[in-house]
Amino acid sequence: MRYFLILILFCSGLSLNAQKLFVDNSHLFYQIAPIYEFKKGIVSLTFDDGYITQFTVGLPLMKERKIPATFYIINNNVDSLTRSLILNNISKDYEIGSHTVSHPDLVKIGNAEANQELLNSKLFLQKYFGMNSGLTMAYPWGIYDSSVRHIVEKIYLAARTTCPGFNSLQALERYDLKMQGFGEQVNSHTANSWVDYAIKNKLWLVEMIHGINDVGYSPIDSEVFSEHLDYINTVDDKIWCSSVSNVIKYIDESKNAKIECELCSDTVFKIRINDFMDDSIYNQSLSIRIKVPDNWDSISISNSAKIKTEYYNKSKFILFNALPDNQELTVKPKLISTPENESGMRLVYLSANPFFDNIKLTLEVFGQRNIDVVLCDINGRLLIHQEEKAANGVINLYLDTSAINPGVYFLRVSSYRGDYIIKKLVKI
Ligand SMILES: [Zn+2]
Repeated sequence: MRYFLILILFCSGLSLNAQKLFVDNSHLFYQIAPIYEFKKGIVSLTFDDGYITQFTVGLPLMKERKIPATFYIINNNVDSLTRSLILNNISKDYEIGSHTVSHPDLVKIGNAEANQELLNSKLFLQKYFGMNSGLTMAYPWGIYDSSVRHIVEKIYLAARTTCPGFNSLQALERYDLKMQGFGEQVNSHTANSWVDYAIKNKLWLVEMIHGINDVGYSPIDSEVFSEHLDYINTVDDKIWCSSVSNVIKYIDESKNAKIECELCSDTVFKIRINDFMDDSIYNQSLSIRIKVPDNWDSISISNSAKIKTEYYNKSKFILFNALPDNQELTVKPKLISTPENESGMRLVYLSANPFFDNIKLTLEVFGQRNIDVVLCDINGRLLIHQEEKAANGVINLYLDTSAINPGVYFLRVSSYRGDYIIKKLVKI
């Protein structure tokens, strides 16, 4: 059955950008976006060495535009002013990463000392800036070799180099992250073209910035930087801008996560999303697409996420973000409501819409029910009202609509228990 369903999807031309579509045991169709919100590319802004203007000039410009970033800071350079600037201004979108304790040449100092530089830096950052700090690092001077990288691999989730390039998500080299250097020689046009390239080629662009406004190495002008930030915002629907650690978390979670149905019926989905990872670190929301019954309207989800509806080859899908924390999530429509045992009925068949001279519908009824059927126009004017008594089983209803003018109508079926089915119908 599993393979049969997959085959149907391919044969019927369901195009989901060649991303994998999963079918769980209860035939829930789902897909986890390879990039957050199914965007095309990723950009991460990274700042090295912790120059003061990164926090006094750069950070406010980014916060104004809701653009996240990563700051690779050197422990020994964190004075009380820098520390309070960070503590007072950093939200969870901003990552404080490691640039080691004293910015040495990690190859030259030898493995034992390199280990101390890397480990102590992480402990320091987590102590002062929280457990979501010190998760990734940038090699000082961009210098490393395989033994340095080996130490880094044991302590950090990823590491940024100073090698120019872009990063492939399929063949990600997370301890050799390439970058584009944004310095005084670079104008916003060039920096914007990196973003376009990442979108076009579905790549991860990591930008490296040092000084801002005459402070620090190769400083960028804050106006040039602002222009670049504005550009990132204009292509926000195509590129995901996030910190390095959140991108790494997303990639790892999305590859590990599974979605399972606790209960997936015609009227409600109770699902669990689990990435089997440590939730205290892997706390990045995933973007998920699931197929829902076509007759679901005004769909809501119990984590209050915003829901977007899409159609592929006439099938209805919803898109939402959720944490893969193995909590039960309820997805249900407002307009075909409640599980069968509470509703007492289920719509099995409804004749063609638009309709002509009649409407036929078949209901499955559970227990003793009085069924109330109403057809009203768009202003709520009652045109047909029919009552049926029913007990356990299927009932067929027939509404004569030959005397009704063409237009838009609502069919409401109620079982006198506060629950109902509503359908929008058109007569032509
Ligand atoms: Zn540096």
